[in-house]
Amino acid sequence: MTRTPAALHFPFGEAVPQPGGVIEVAPGLLWLRVAMPFALNHINLWLLRDRLDGLEGWTIVDCGLGNATARDNWEAVFAQHLGGLPVLRVVVTHMHPDHIGSAAWLTERWSTPDRPCRAWISAGDYFSAQLAMSNDADAGGDRAADFFASHGLLDPQAQTGVRERAGYYRRLVPTLPSQHVRLLGGQVLRIGDDDWHCVPGYGHAPEHISLHCPARGLFIAGDMLLPRISTNVSVHNLEPEGDPLTLYLESLAMLGRLLPPQTLVLPSHGLPFGGAAAADGQGGAHTRIEELVRHHAERLEDTRQACRRQPTSAWDLLPVLFRRPLDLHQTTFAMGEALAHLHRLWLAGELRRERGSDGVYRFSPA
Ligand SMILES: [Zn+2]
Repeated sequence: MTRTPAALHFPFGEAVPQPGGVIEVAPGLLWLRVAMPFALNHINLWLLRDRLDGLEGWTIVDCGLGNATARDNWEAVFAQHLGGLPVLRVVVTHMHPDHIGSAAWLTERWSTPDRPCRAWISAGDYFSAQLAMSNDADAGGDRAADFFASHGLLDPQAQTGVRERAGYYRRLVPTLPSQHVRLLGGQVLRIGDDDWHCVPGYGHAPEHISLHCPARGLFIAGDMLLPRISTNVSVHNLEPEGDPLTLYLESLAMLGRLLPPQTLVLPSHGLPFGGAAAADGQGGAHTRIEELVRHHAERLEDTRQACRRQPTSAWDLLPVLFRRPLDLHQTTFAMGEALAHLHRLWLAGELRRERGSDGVYRFSPA
């Protein structure tokens, strides 16, 4: 993830919810924020006033990591901000640990013998999460280390670091909901008095679902559209010939066609942006989408130039795309992103790849 400058409208200024607190961003829609122990140091979560099976209550959108910080924050919010009403369901935009980590705890916390509180999530992300609990192929362990080695990450210390990171997902997501309600792109959820459309997005997670309420001009973006950092788009070991950057750019184009300019975008990281002040098309979703498209076009051009100079591996591309020191965690993310740029050009026929006698794939003009 890299920083890009933005001239966006932030209707709530720099205000952010304090631990245990909320900000009402629209009637019946509460924003809370939970701290995380990473460079990306927080996640935004949402509560929507709802009614399900005749019962008044709330719907949660996204959960936080499966840790005490998230649980304590939720308990403080439950005690002060639900008006005595229960949580009726938990919508999870995608399977990443900061979004799904506390889902099992939340759904158990609010289930009663006659009324289960369910996790609502796409099938792609529910089953990918189940797989990630038992399979270390992506985030760490031997297969991830071998995959990164085939793209040039041969440094012994980094190799050891990736091998020792087996079980990474399980440490952040102690348990998953044992059942789910399937969300599908195009489906409409009735939440309270409003229709929210499930908008599928690709390239960041298997089957990410954002929520759009056209009547109220609200878009709960998840990780598909973020104001300051660019969404992580990575090739992973489980799908080693994947083309996630093409999928992500197609999803951005779709969002550009879908969202009216004055939409208030509620992202998982950073500040809500857009809204009425962006009605002229400036400072909202469209400005951000154009920036992100430009950002990736520039990175793709850097990638082409590097491959013209000499056959280039993902590892060789890191100093070209990321002009700053990276720790191990950032290095593996950056490797996945570098590969996403190489693969878009390779699978479009602009580049070819060859595996050297050292086992490393290098890309050059086709
Ligand atoms: Zn994510």
